[in-house]
Amino acid sequence: MSNSYRPEQIIRPEILALSAYHVPSATGMIKLDAMENPYPLSPELRDEIAQLTANAPVNRYPDSSAVLLKGKLRQTLAISDDIDILLGNGSDEIIQIIAMAVAKPGAVLISVEPSFVMFRMIATFANIQYVGVPLKQDFSLDLETMLTAIAKYKPAVIFLAYPNNPTGNLFDYAAILSIIQATSGIVVIDEAYQAFADASFINEINHHPNLLLMRTLSKSGLAGLRLGLLLGRSEWLTQLEKMRLPYNIGIMTQIIAEKVLHHTVVLSEQAEAIKLERAKMSAFLATIENIKVYPSKANFILFRIHAATQIFLALKQQKILIKNLDGTHPLLENCLRVTIGTPDENAQFCSILQAILSKTV
Ligand SMILES: *Cc1c(COP(=O)(O)O)cnc(C)c1O
Repeated sequence: MSNSYRPEQIIRPEILALSAYHVPSATGMIKLDAMENPYPLSPELRDEIAQLTANAPVNRYPDSSAVLLKGKLRQTLAISDDIDILLGNGSDEIIQIIAMAVAKPGAVLISVEPSFVMFRMIATFANIQYVGVPLKQDFSLDLETMLTAIAKYKPAVIFLAYPNNPTGNLFDYAAILSIIQATSGIVVIDEAYQAFADASFINEINHHPNLLLMRTLSKSGLAGLRLGLLLGRSEWLTQLEKMRLPYNIGIMTQIIAEKVLHHTVVLSEQAEAIKLERAKMSAFLATIENIKVYPSKANFILFRIHAATQIFLALKQQKILIKNLDGTHPLLENCLRVTIGTPDENAQFCSILQAILSKTV
């Protein structure tokens, strides 16, 4: 009876019902779909990294507590000693650790919608009930509805991305503070795009016992390394550390990230260049009739355009890959998201978009 084993009988129904997170192939494309930093590291720095990795003892397990890397992060991000740091294999893993830690029977995880899809997916992985509170039409936080949901569901945890993905905006600071104060659970502010936002809740950690803050190196130039951080009070992080798999941060990530963090000036110059390009791209898109451009504090721009899916496919045919959000949420009808690339990539995107539009109207 070897073929009587059926996944449908073994795997949890909510997992069977999921569709896998789809990552499109980008071979030969101008890749403006995943909020990566378009700039490579300098040749000098890459040589230094080559030396370091050549000598790395890959036969040994990595330092489980990543002492050197954590110290360097504390220094470069100016994190005070009374705040603890937990490292994740990307911040995705940190979301998973938090969700698993709080997933008592009946526990609820709240986020807003549209937002980062991993909040919902990871809630499902961790077997915790997910509630998505809709944003307003202009993608601002609907504080009243949030407070009602908090009262109704008594969530164990609330995730808020600041700036939000895929909308690019910063939610109202005071509204977020009200949410932090209203809930009896934890609030995790996900600052994945902090490098482009000039805004942060980092100074609030000392004032709010239920606030945790997430950062990542992915969007500022090291997406391939997979390194995320959780910052917060030791009461929380001591518990969450127990769930972190002992060697989740590999030796190459530890060595390379530590080295690159000696050169944060380069990363912040790149972030500044991306912010400049964001302004240019925004201004360009705003000149096109029938496009609605949403203001962005991140390294991408959301815009609404007639026949978005058709435009997306036409761009793809011309080797420009952006993100089609049409059909992913009612508020995102006809919305596309473009990541800011190099000046050259952005110029190509703009001119090809213009050419497509002049043909379709
Ligand atoms: C990209 C993104 C992340 C994922 O970051 P990794 O560190 O690469 O896992 C987390 N949160 C938001 C809102 C993001 O957009």
